[in-house]
Amino acid sequence: MTEKIAFIGLGNMGGPMAANLVKAGFEVTGFDLSDASREEARAKGVAIAATAEDAVREASIVVTMLPAGKHVLSVWGSLTAVARPDTLMIDCSTIDVDSARKAHALAAGNRLHSLDAPVSGGTGGAAAGTLTFMVGGTSQAFDKAQAVLSAMGKKIVHCGDAGAGQAAKICNNMILGISMAAVSEAFVLAERLGLSHQALFDVASTSSGQCWSLTSYCPVPGPVPTSPANNEYRPGFAAALMLKDLRLSQEAADASGAKTPLGAHATALYEAFDKSGHGSQDFSAIIQHIRDLTA
Ligand code: NAD
Repeated sequence: MTEKIAFIGLGNMGGPMAANLVKAGFEVTGFDLSDASREEARAKGVAIAATAEDAVREASIVVTMLPAGKHVLSVWGSLTAVARPDTLMIDCSTIDVDSARKAHALAAGNRLHSLDAPVSGGTGGAAAGTLTFMVGGTSQAFDKAQAVLSAMGKKIVHCGDAGAGQAAKICNNMILGISMAAVSEAFVLAERLGLSHQALFDVASTSSGQCWSLTSYCPVPGPVPTSPANNEYRPGFAAALMLKDLRLSQEAADASGAKTPLGAHATALYEAFDKSGHGSQDFSAIIQHIRDLTA
């Protein structure tokens, strides 16, 4: 029998992820608060329910892809009450570890299985089905999720118990925020030194400066034709979401006593960028902020 999946949150990431589940042969029923997201998902074969609860009632697996912890806790609060016993709840959003653990507790209180399974790979990875999943929860729930997660991603890592997936995600995105700022600073310095964008890219992309922020999301137009810089910095991954993740990393650092000075610098840069009204641009547009500091 075809597995029935409910997918709640059909935005930039959730929409293409749900479409890949349809392509893999799952019966997918979705819901999103936004008309545009619902219509886009419907065009890709996702059946649209009138409410999130309606989408979930018949499902054996529920996937959520929502902005932040408060959305996940509110949606899981109502969905765990209507889901059938033994349903597997998978949250793929990036949220704080504490909210993730609370979501697991909501599921356990209603005799459901649960995983936190945030992703890396951006909207390109979501569309191509090549995301990396970082998963927290029991081995039993992890095994049950294999077919669904492998239809949306190519690498699935069991990081540990409840909340461990979010911990891995927060650490990864702190690297990403810092590395995008570093790559942007290098391009701004190159501009000042009269070095072309292409020359810096050709050298750094095959040298020790190589990183994802350079080779997949290059913050200047030209060297990587698919990067948001070639599309007026449309996201992609919005700067406001990067700020959210950096703040999560700093809260986690404070709570755990870890010292993360570069993470703190990157958070301050994105805070200033967001405050100046650019939060909806792709996070690689931070290069404009760094250029403005230089001007
Ligand atoms: P998005 O804003 O495009 O999508 C979120 C969707 O959730 C929206 O369509 C919104 O209408 C919907 N939503 C909000 N509250 C809802 C509710 N109560 N019921 C139903 N739908 C609701 O954001 P996104 O870029 O898809 O990101 C989603 C999550 O994935 C975030 O936690 C983000 O940090 C994470 N993430 C994003 C990227 C990226 O590159 N965009 C990469 C990795 C992880």
